[in-house]
Amino acid sequence: MSLNELTAHEILGLIKTKKTTPNDVYQSVISAVREKDSAVKAYVRTCENNADLATLKADAKFPIPTTNKDNICISGHETTCSSKILAGFKPPYDATVIKKLKETGALFVGNANMDEFAFGSSTENSAFGPSRNPWNLDCVPGGSSGGSAAAVASDQTIWALGSDTGGSIRQPASFCGVVGVKPTYGRVSRFGLIAFASSLDQIGPLTKDVTDAALLLNIISGYDPMDSTSINEPVPDYTKSLTGDVRGLKIGIPKEFFIEGLDPEVRQAVEAAIEVLKAKGAVFKTVSLPHSEYSVATYYIIATAEASSNLARYDGVRFGLREQAKTLRKAPIIDMFEETRDAGFGAESKRRIMLGTYSLSSGYYDAYYLRAQKVRTLIKNDFDAVFADCDAILTPTAPTTAFKIGEKTDDPLAMYLSDIYTISVNLAGIPAMSLPCGFSKAGLPIGLQIITKHFAEETMLRVAHTYEQATDWHKKVAKV
Ligand code: GLN
Repeated sequence: MSLNELTAHEILGLIKTKKTTPNDVYQSVISAVREKDSAVKAYVRTCENNADLATLKADAKFPIPTTNKDNICISGHETTCSSKILAGFKPPYDATVIKKLKETGALFVGNANMDEFAFGSSTENSAFGPSRNPWNLDCVPGGSSGGSAAAVASDQTIWALGSDTGGSIRQPASFCGVVGVKPTYGRVSRFGLIAFASSLDQIGPLTKDVTDAALLLNIISGYDPMDSTSINEPVPDYTKSLTGDVRGLKIGIPKEFFIEGLDPEVRQAVEAAIEVLKAKGAVFKTVSLPHSEYSVATYYIIATAEASSNLARYDGVRFGLREQAKTLRKAPIIDMFEETRDAGFGAESKRRIMLGTYSLSSGYYDAYYLRAQKVRTLIKNDFDAVFADCDAILTPTAPTTAFKIGEKTDDPLAMYLSDIYTISVNLAGIPAMSLPCGFSKAGLPIGLQIITKHFAEETMLRVAHTYEQATDWHKKVAKV
């Protein structure tokens, strides 16, 4: 096995016993990128100048090759959200998660591809073209953190950061057969994460196994005065929750999630996972989340409203692209705004700006935005009611396995339904994760979602780790 194929905890063990060095591991990852990324296209930009290695301290705790998503700011590194409108933008500061990672010795490999501004479920909305699924290069890796998931699954990194607004860590984790965690809203600082929908966005890990997810979560979690929504709760050592013991834990299965539209192979894999956890002593019961049928509609009002406000800042004045009008139409400055936004944003971004602006406009606000906020509360109340009697909820992560590139690009609604099982979690602000639980006959990974209440990441990781240790899906490797 070469070094790039290992997990972070395996590498840390080898470094400790002097069987390898951070430099060897980094070089092994970089060669994998050179060899494979022309096929996978996980990265939009790599940093091969080894700048982090040159400054690496001998006592660094986590000198691990790390992949960043192209919407998280690293000082001085071009960061574009895979959009033309941010071409050439170099942030003048580090996101808090990057600062924390740098303090532990992280070695950055590059920025991973994503759907433009994280709008999408396939990476096909990237201005750089789609990434490919390492298990089948004709399929999408999911999105919007598709590049991060594909990089982890093809061993072109050790672990990666993603961001999740409606499923963007969990759904690509599911499609690529890796582990992806969306922490509680407020657990991880959003400072330096380029905003999509500020009340929903959360940064989280994409890793090869649950232990690595716990380790990376340990590094990035915690209160940050630079993010007013970050919460001042102590950060436990998440690796301590990996006890392998789920005896007596009560797990809810929401009946609304096992209906029409769920691929039978996905259903079977999740049902088999329930049996594995039952054998480990967990107790299952059927529960109800009655408002889940409204979650996609509610999300697409709230997320687009916030996105339309957040994207107003890209006007050619301060960031990235600036286009000049060829002929004067209105006034030079107005023409410049319009030309820049027209040339800089892709079709999905324009669709969302228009949807969001519409639902926030006078006369429609009460009918759409305000009503969506009320339904959001009902969705959160549904989860609270279930968690009064359950420790966790188990569902499929996505209704299908990875679809073909191009299959859903002409049908935004079909694409939006890809997140039907993940979106309500963001609306409620609770944590959830995806981990591999099988493969379809066509050889594509299937993901299992575990959801817990606010700040109960430890229970979530405990269930995930117990399941993982009882199976060997996480040991399967995509051969690119
Ligand atoms: N696929 C969803 C969307 O397009 C979620 C994206 C995300 O979590 N960033 O909005």
